[in-house]
Amino acid sequence: MIGSAGRLIEAGVTPARWSAPGAALRGFLLIVALLHPLPVPAQDAPAPLPTIPIDDLTSRTLRAPAELQVAPGSTALDQLPTADFRPLTSGQANRGITGQDHWVRVRLSNANGTEPQSWVLHHETSYLDRLTIHYADNGGPLQRVSLSDRAPFEARPVNYRTLALPHTTPAGGHTDLYVHLGFDKADSLTLNLRLTRADLFHDASRRENLVYGAYFGAMGMFLLIAFIGSVILRESVYLHYAAFLGVSMAMWAMLNGFAYQYLWPDSVYWHNEGFHIVFLLMAITALQFSRGFLKTPRYFPRVNRALVAAQWVFAAGIVLRLAGVYVPVLVLSYLGLTQLVLLSVLGLMAYRRGMRYARWYSVAWLVYGVGLAFSVISAGSGFLEWGMKPLDFAQAGGVLESACLLIALGERLVGWDRARRRAIAIANQDPLTGLGNRRALEEAFDRLEERVQTTGVPVFLAFIDLDHFKAINDEHGHDAGDAVLIHLARILRNACRPEDICIRYGGEELALLLQVPHQEQAMEVTERIRQRFARESTRFEGTEIRHTLTAGIALALARDREPDRAEAIRRADRALYEGKRCGRNRCTAHLPEEQADAAPSLQGEGT
Ligand code: GH3
Ligand code: MG
Ligand code: MG
Repeated sequence: MIGSAGRLIEAGVTPARWSAPGAALRGFLLIVALLHPLPVPAQDAPAPLPTIPIDDLTSRTLRAPAELQVAPGSTALDQLPTADFRPLTSGQANRGITGQDHWVRVRLSNANGTEPQSWVLHHETSYLDRLTIHYADNGGPLQRVSLSDRAPFEARPVNYRTLALPHTTPAGGHTDLYVHLGFDKADSLTLNLRLTRADLFHDASRRENLVYGAYFGAMGMFLLIAFIGSVILRESVYLHYAAFLGVSMAMWAMLNGFAYQYLWPDSVYWHNEGFHIVFLLMAITALQFSRGFLKTPRYFPRVNRALVAAQWVFAAGIVLRLAGVYVPVLVLSYLGLTQLVLLSVLGLMAYRRGMRYARWYSVAWLVYGVGLAFSVISAGSGFLEWGMKPLDFAQAGGVLESACLLIALGERLVGWDRARRRAIAIANQDPLTGLGNRRALEEAFDRLEERVQTTGVPVFLAFIDLDHFKAINDEHGHDAGDAVLIHLARILRNACRPEDICIRYGGEELALLLQVPHQEQAMEVTERIRQRFARESTRFEGTEIRHTLTAGIALALARDREPDRAEAIRRADRALYEGKRCGRNRCTAHLPEEQADAAPSLQGEGT
């Protein structure tokens, strides 16, 4: 019975019953006592509770002078402990993983004689099997409220993510508090009980909702980007990143009690047993993402085997939890979170291997991993004074981490794009002269066909062939022949505009695609090249090599003509052949059949 504990509440004034013999006896004893004081027999009176003034309360943690008692096992709730209390210091508030019961006692005194003080007593974390609060105002009978996160959410007196009790201390009065905290199965326990003035409590919880809303908003945006990335790029690593983000969000929602408050208020099982499963899922998805992102199977096969093994162990942990195993899975899930800090080391290794984008990955895991590791050490061992505080930093770090990972993914994509462009450029380039090759000619044709249609300016194709090149090779050697080709390529580049296309068609044949309004202009450019090539000899190992070239020019693309590449090449080749036949070292334009009969082909001839 709670009433029996009423003894503990002081000032239980009982009105004395009046009788004549009694009064005579009392009078006699009073006189004797005044004359000759008798020793008062020692009484088992309860020690007065340590007092915290709350008349100017805003928000404070219950600490010394509040007192703490650690009880070995489950204490009966109707027997309030009276002895072995010691001051509750901040060093003792974080208990780590424990199966022991804890009592905190204090008197809250409201010295304000006119205003009652309404407050909410709330626990720091959303996981606590038992929070039983015994309280009495002004020495009245004890009330008892038993709260538990193993009860449905609706059963709570306050719609809040952690266990909380509202109460009002009368004006000029006091409230005695005996708070009992414990777990059915050993778990991380902090004694951080906060006492917040009722009106401030509602403001604070609104602010909390806003902050957490910002967190979920930011993470949701990253998730969306990751999901879109996975759809567009069809790469599993984006899907794994999205999965990791999703699980992270679920983990924080569960850890902070929001999931229980808003998502599944009826599911006591998921709130209590599910969240270690989510820890393990987060570790599994983080490793899955990392294996794909850093390509561990290819670059770090041994590390990859270790990561796969870890994933299987964590998966086994999930199965064990579903089978009802508790504490070993709790420890494993803490391990799963702590080891994530090692991923920053793996990122560093990858960076040193030349994966530039791994630096952001490394920073990401350093931020998140250190936050999580501190949280786990603090929550798991009670070694640090901070209790569950590092969790808030870890969660904020989680946003930073996700941003860093997104940057890393972006950097990786940019790197790939650069490599892809380089590969295309190499594939389209002739390695000796640096000019485009035949594939580049095809691509240029594609582009120019469109441009001709929009601008109406035609394109001319010039075929250039070195004269007696075989003789140069035979006389000076193949390297000298190469030097001549390089020299000619340079002349071509200098003579052409940036939009002109210079190609090494094959062997000692080069080609130009020039978009100019009239054939005369194409002729002019080619003729300039021919003259310069004939004028400038190539110096190779001390010898001057003189050379000439022959070029054939033909209309390749025009707006009013059906584009026909093969035909354009044939025509330019025919003009070239014509030039060779007529004695080389000249530019010959191909004339359409109807004009060819009437007039001789347009030629520029060397001297
Ligand atoms: P013509 O004036 O009739 O064009 O005579 P030519 O000797 O230039 O023509 P031919 O087709 O008989 O010989 C072309 C030579 O070009 C044969 C080949 O050895 C040489 N050649 C082709 N590609 C290269 C190359 O990359 N480097 C060098 N040095 N020579 C090459
Ligand atoms: Mg040739
Ligand atoms: Mg030749």
